[in-house]
Amino acid sequence: MAMSGAPRLACADACWSDHPQDAMTNNIAISLPEQRPRQTARRLLRAAADALAPSQAPRSLYIHIPFCAHKCHYCDFYSIVDRQDRQRAFADRLIRELDALAPIAGRLETIFIGGGTPTLLAPPLWRDLLTALGRAYDLSEIRAGRGEFSVECNPETASPELFDILVNGGVNRISIGAQSFNQAHLQTLERRHNPDNVARALELARASGIERQSVDLIFAVPGQELEDWQADLERALAIDTEHLSCYALTYEPNTAMTARLERYEFTRADEDLEADMYELTLERLRRAGLERYEVSNYARPGRECAHNMAYWRQQDWLAAGPSASGHVGGHRWKNTPRLDDYLSLDDGGFAPIIEHEPPDARRAMREQIMTGIRLREGLEIERVCAAAERVAPGARRRLEASAAWHVQVGLLSVSGGRWVLTDGGFLMGDRVASDLMDALA
Ligand code: SF4
Repeated sequence: MAMSGAPRLACADACWSDHPQDAMTNNIAISLPEQRPRQTARRLLRAAADALAPSQAPRSLYIHIPFCAHKCHYCDFYSIVDRQDRQRAFADRLIRELDALAPIAGRLETIFIGGGTPTLLAPPLWRDLLTALGRAYDLSEIRAGRGEFSVECNPETASPELFDILVNGGVNRISIGAQSFNQAHLQTLERRHNPDNVARALELARASGIERQSVDLIFAVPGQELEDWQADLERALAIDTEHLSCYALTYEPNTAMTARLERYEFTRADEDLEADMYELTLERLRRAGLERYEVSNYARPGRECAHNMAYWRQQDWLAAGPSASGHVGGHRWKNTPRLDDYLSLDDGGFAPIIEHEPPDARRAMREQIMTGIRLREGLEIERVCAAAERVAPGARRRLEASAAWHVQVGLLSVSGGRWVLTDGGFLMGDRVASDLMDALA
């Protein structure tokens, strides 16, 4: 039986779940939709890059493609309904931005193209985009099979033509936004795909040579019973999924779903039911050989998402496209989410930005704790304590005391010199992270 609500993440969709830019990046401190860009990323990125040794150049790249077929009711991601009238302009602009960023990048080890619904982009534009990437960036690690190149895919948009283009461009992993295999629950979420197309998309991807696949699911949908969720998990396993992202539905402000909730059109899932679903997920997937390696992510050994691990381990990454957020040398920035601004404001290819946070050791430390504790590998005690002490004198003692208390109540364990959440602790990961971060105060 559950002790508390299941862990929640910001989003649970093809567009996000496998690229947790929200938890780590895209939604960090982002609450300024009205803010207009005042500068571009050019100066800050050049300053950040100048401070890095060549060997430290970013090896990860996130690209945001904002188009969607329609707006799903639970979604608060930056996406616009695609009328296909701006795809060409967008692709050209994106290529200019990628060209501008390329000199700052190192040999890329991970690329993630998310959205939106990236696979809505017309195949010829995909060809142009991938050609430009291959021309401007060193993809040798990815092409040699040592790196990871993921694209999010809506099940309806999968086609042999598109997948062939993706494979030729170096893509070796797709992330499919299934969300549910139950038509009624898909309807509640206002997802309009046919669940049978998930298996078809995976088969097409495999046939094209895309070896790695991930599937996204959402649980705690209104009206969903434990048995329904179990059926979703079984369907996902039956199609031989090697990586699953399973998120509890969240009610973000200013979404249609939240408005419907506030109008009492439905009731949200009971907290205990939600926690039971989370526990069932862990147990069932573990039995199937998919281990939880992050609070909401499960994979066969070696099939973890390397791109997301780069975020969670606080490595640097470049970002391109409207609303994309990047992190280089302690600087964080966010591109404008407005497509009009993105298209029209072009500073030597660099994108207009609406936010920039300069390096801040305390913020970095908080993020390290927040993201690290959510991983199965947990936090390396000596490293995190030493870093915390440098940021805030006395923090080591407070951190150790807080961790000791969480160990005592069974939420944390000590393993191999690391603090690691227990199964019970994973259910309260946000709370544990928050307590540990308080030690920096
Ligand atoms: S509207 Fe739907 S498909 Fe588009 S980004 Fe949001 S959740 Fe993803």
